[in-house]
Amino acid sequence: MPGRLTFGEVVERGGVRDHASRVTRDVIRRSNEAAAEDARVHLYVLSCDTCAATKACCGYVVTAYLYEAIPVAARLVRERRDTPALRKRLRDAAARMEAVGAGHVGPCVFLDAAERCTIHDDRPAVCGTHLVSSPAERCARPGGEVTAIAAPLLETVPPATAVAIAEELGLAPIGTQYFGMLPRMVLLCLEAWARPDYVRFLATHGRAAAERIAQLLERDRA
Ligand code: SF4
Ligand code: SF4
Repeated sequence: MPGRLTFGEVVERGGVRDHASRVTRDVIRRSNEAAAEDARVHLYVLSCDTCAATKACCGYVVTAYLYEAIPVAARLVRERRDTPALRKRLRDAAARMEAVGAGHVGPCVFLDAAERCTIHDDRPAVCGTHLVSSPAERCARPGGEVTAIAAPLLETVPPATAVAIAEELGLAPIGTQYFGMLPRMVLLCLEAWARPDYVRFLATHGRAAAERIAQLLERDRA
């Protein structure tokens, strides 16, 4: 990868944003088609299709690969939404998620007052494939029994794509995937956007984000 281009330039000129968008949208589309077919065959209803409830699902801890955050960051830059106030909200949300690791942490930074996702077409695969067959009101009830529909593509496509796009970007190996909490990954992309030294920057901060996830998994296993 060219030495003096910024992260944003490499992402936009190298077609990385398009690649990342294409993969994530495809995973969401194929997962949702499979879920719809399963619901049709097994005679149940996907509650999300008609959900008018408060979007409790948009208040939970959300993880993402760095490549999934790239289209989000590109959109925020394009729409002139990358402000100090937004970065602070992302930083605060990331800290909350990294402290608890799972569960409800309050409304997502990207959820607007009308309960709409303001990055909907660019949302990560975890968001786009989260479908439930239990009644919508259970989603907001602490301890409510929620029946989520499995999205098996999540086990294979996103990890493989993370490796491929890290190579496209010329990112440094960090001994693990570039993976973390969604707000952390978006913030890292925004902070790297105008930096020519993004490889070193992302290696340092990407490793810290991934290590935090590993610590949380370790804690949950103990
Ligand atoms: S997960 Fe629950 S709250 Fe979210 S859209 Fe589906 S039914 Fe509605
Ligand atoms: S990114 Fe969008 S879909 Fe995902 S939790 Fe946030 S508001 Fe909801």
